[in-house]
Amino acid sequence: MLSTQLLQAVNDQIRFEIQSAYSYLAMSAYCESANLPGCAKWLRMQWEEELEHAMKFFDLVNARGSRVTLQGIDKPAAEFTGVRDVFTKVLAHEQKVTASIHNLRSLAAKENDYAAQLELDWFVKEQVEEEKHAAEILAMLDIAGESGPALLMLDRQLGARTAG
Ligand code: MG
Repeated sequence: MLSTQLLQAVNDQIRFEIQSAYSYLAMSAYCESANLPGCAKWLRMQWEEELEHAMKFFDLVNARGSRVTLQGIDKPAAEFTGVRDVFTKVLAHEQKVTASIHNLRSLAAKENDYAAQLELDWFVKEQVEEEKHAAEILAMLDIAGESGPALLMLDRQLGARTAG
């Protein structure tokens, strides 16, 4: 069984991952309406990935003989000033997720929960990738600008994202 404190923290993280998914789905809807189908697809895949993260934590709790308590999620932000604003918020959000994962990892270490530490190490690595991808897209947006042919090419590139 997970300790009471760790179980609470993992339940919070499940909520956070699902909240992240919901935010990315709202961003995807915004990009669809802004005629950027590639960005919309990229964010929709991010939505799926965050749900997978939530389920990884869900399975971890079950495997340890503890019980998940689902929490409420908030209405996601739906209005953005442009695609750069969207990806700035993606990066800022992932930085918050990273901090949250690091807190969980520290708690697991403090409690000498070796199994949880192993599971959390996967997330520590995953967050490096999440932040890297968001930062790369922001850097490309800086070059492409927020309108014109370069943005259409970038949109096409993001639309080619495959799972994994
Ligand atoms: Mg995640």
